[in-house]
Amino acid sequence: MTDTDTRTPAVELAAPSLGRLEEQALLEVIKSGWLTMGDRVRRFETEFAALHGVPNAVAVSSATAALQLGLSVFDIGPGDEVLVPSLSFVATASVVVHSGATPVFVDIEDVRIPHMSLVDARRCIGPHTRAILVMHYGGYQVDIPAWRALADEFGLLLFEDAAHAAGLTGGAGGGCSDLAAFSFFANKNMTTAEGGMLVIADADRSERARLLRSHGMTSGTLDRARGRATGYDVVECGHNFRMDELRAALGLVQLERLPMWNEARRMLTAHYRMRVADRLSVLTIPFDRDHTTVGHLLPVVLPLGCDRSGVMSVLRACGVQSSVHYPPIHRFRAFREKFGDLHLPKTDTFSAREVTLPLHPGMETADVDRVVEAMVEAVGATGDDRRA
Ligand SMILES: *Cc1c(COP(=O)(O)O)cnc(C)c1O
Repeated sequence: MTDTDTRTPAVELAAPSLGRLEEQALLEVIKSGWLTMGDRVRRFETEFAALHGVPNAVAVSSATAALQLGLSVFDIGPGDEVLVPSLSFVATASVVVHSGATPVFVDIEDVRIPHMSLVDARRCIGPHTRAILVMHYGGYQVDIPAWRALADEFGLLLFEDAAHAAGLTGGAGGGCSDLAAFSFFANKNMTTAEGGMLVIADADRSERARLLRSHGMTSGTLDRARGRATGYDVVECGHNFRMDELRAALGLVQLERLPMWNEARRMLTAHYRMRVADRLSVLTIPFDRDHTTVGHLLPVVLPLGCDRSGVMSVLRACGVQSSVHYPPIHRFRAFREKFGDLHLPKTDTFSAREVTLPLHPGMETADVDRVVEAMVEAVGATGDDRRA
């Protein structure tokens, strides 16, 4: 693969699957004249809950909103500490800051398992710890029963940032944790453009989330329009984290195909693992091939000493998009200024060497082959001595 290959379209890192069904769904909402918090939102919640085998789901405007709302519902606030991974999207920690509580950054296990480390988490638990917020990195399932046991040992709440994990069932998604927050942002494994879902197993807390999602009001616009309610009271100060009908309509048609898309992602991931083992065994692909996953991301870890920005520019020249998941949160200026320079050596090592390769259901195995060949060229070109 050479620079002259720019005629071929780029292999995109992530691409939403959108078509006629989505177009039709949006048109129907527009024709219906009812734009927000109607029957489609309710149906999207019901079907999302059913797919995940949980009793309740509350549709919201983003995963960030879902996490923020979840922290409100469990009264997390000033004086509390919440354990979070630093290897995550910034929202995992910024919602804790906005709640008034303090995020405590926990290191990862190692480069092969870039989930928050149980051992390091135990070390970080103190008298002010209220909750643990785990994140299903790349769609790979966190060991929820092990985290539940740790949380129970210290009387802590267990929250899941499931932004990568729509469709992950069995031991995740709000079943044994206290809450799970899902994302339908444009680059996630299903999308409503912007959107999220909050799953809280406890029925009372879930109802409280429903109230706080919409200003703490006792009745919604739809109920009043249909004469089911004449007025409303405000029982608590809430937020506006509502989802609209356009997004719910998108969500309903996306949700139907989510299991099939996740299966395609797993198939492409298996193909990546096979091709990388054949062609570029110096690369590490985190997690075992049989680890439960929805295949949201395809992360690889470069060999020590390999120049990542060099690798990424060769990939770009070959028409292959790539990214990094993630620059560690504790290294961002806003967090350094608040919490000082923290020492999370495994997180730092992982995020210095990680590259995320294209993975989405619109790809074919031939695209995977093309990406892996581009990686062979990129790693070779950056002076790695892998044959030594
Ligand atoms: C995308 C993402 C979020 C935020 O999701 P939004 O729906 O964009 O608010 C939170 N956490 C992780 C790990 C994410 O990847």
